[in-house]
Amino acid sequence: MRKPVLLTPGPTQVPEEVLASASLPIMHHRTPQFEAIFEEAAENLKYIFQTENPVIMLTSSGTGALESSVINLCSPGDKVIAVNGGKFGERWIELCQTYNLDLVEITIPWHRTVKPEEIEKALQENPDAKVVFTTLSETSSGGVTDIEGIAKITRSSSAILVVDAVSGLGVTPLYTDKWGVDVVVSGSQKGFMLPPGLAFITMNEKARKAMETSTLPKYYFDLKKAYKNAEKNTTPWTPAISIIVQLNIALRMMKEEGIEAIYARHHQLSEAIRQGVKALGLTLYNEDTGDCCIAVNIPKGVDGGKFVKLARDKYQVTFAGGQGSLKGNIFRISAMGNVGPNDVILGLAAIERVLADLGYSFEKGKGIAAAIDYLAK
Ligand SMILES: *Cc1c(COP(=O)(O)O)cnc(C)c1O
Repeated sequence: MRKPVLLTPGPTQVPEEVLASASLPIMHHRTPQFEAIFEEAAENLKYIFQTENPVIMLTSSGTGALESSVINLCSPGDKVIAVNGGKFGERWIELCQTYNLDLVEITIPWHRTVKPEEIEKALQENPDAKVVFTTLSETSSGGVTDIEGIAKITRSSSAILVVDAVSGLGVTPLYTDKWGVDVVVSGSQKGFMLPPGLAFITMNEKARKAMETSTLPKYYFDLKKAYKNAEKNTTPWTPAISIIVQLNIALRMMKEEGIEAIYARHHQLSEAIRQGVKALGLTLYNEDTGDCCIAVNIPKGVDGGKFVKLARDKYQVTFAGGQGSLKGNIFRISAMGNVGPNDVILGLAAIERVLADLGYSFEKGKGIAAAIDYLAK
C-alpha cells in the first residue's frame, strides 16, 4: 500500500517511534513500572498545558473530557453560558441541554469566532452564570478564539472559563496559568500525535472548588476519584495502557522540540498552506483563521463533494470536508501534529491535481511555488 498522507485536523499522523512503542507487550497498570511511565507523562502534560496544576488522563475520546467538565462543575439547574459558533460549539450546547442546565447560548456565525466583548455582555446580563464554555480552535470552521481576551473577563468574575482545546493544544498558544484559564480539555488524536482514545483535563483552584459542590450524577467520569488516584500515579479504572505508553514517548518528543518551537512550526506550515492556496486564487472561509486547521472555500464550478474523495483515493492525501451546512462548500487542511514541510508541499500538489481534474482553471505549480518561496524565507 502506498503511504497515505493525513492532513486532517484529527486524527493526525503518528510518528514511527510512537507507533512502535504500542507494539511492546502490555504492562499491568498496577505496577511500579507503569506508574513510573504514568508519572513522567503526567509531569510532561503539565508542560504542554502550560500549568502547574495536575492534568487528569481519561480513557475516552475528547468528548468524554468535555462531558466530564460539565458534570463535575455543575449542579442541576445551574445557569451556564456556551458559545455556539460551529460543530464543536454545538457539542457544548448539546451537552448542557442533556443535563438540563439553564443555558444561555451565544450564537455566532461560523465564519468568525466569539469576541471577548460578547462574553463580557453575556456575563453582565447573567451575573449568576456559573460556567462559560468556549472552544479554542473551532475545528469545523478553522477559527481560533481569543481565549486570552476572554480569560481577562472571566478572571474578574465568579464564572469558570472552560476551554475545549482538543484540536488546539500543542498547536497554537494557550498559556493556561498565565492567562488564567480555569479548565482546559484536550484529546490524544490531534496535536499530541497519538491514536484516538485518551482525553485530558486540567482545573485550577477556582474550578476544583466548584467540583467539590457539584451534584450532577457521575460515575465513570467522576473527577474526584480521578484526582485521588492521580496522586498515586494511577487511575480509578483500567486506563488505555498502550496509549499512555505512547503518550510518554510523544511528550518526550514535544518537550525536546519545545512548546514555543511547536507553536512556531505550526504557524510556519499553516502560513505556507495559506500562501499556497491563495496563490491558486482560492479564498479562506474564516476571518479568524488560525494555525490549527485551514478551511478553504471550494471555488465556484468545482464539485465540493468530489474534492476530498478524489484527493484521498487518487492521490493518497486525506483532507477533511465541510461539516453541517458547510458540507461541499469548504475543505479543511491541517498541519497539526507530526507534519513537516514535505507533507505541506505534497498536500498542495494534491490540491492542484484535484482542482485540475475538477476543471478549475489556474496556473499549475503556482500554489506549490508560493509555499516553497515562503518556506525558504
Ligand atoms: C476533535 C475535537 C473534539 C473531540 O472529538 P472526539 O471525537 O470526541 O475526540 C472536540 N472538540 C474539538 C474542537 C475537536 O476538534
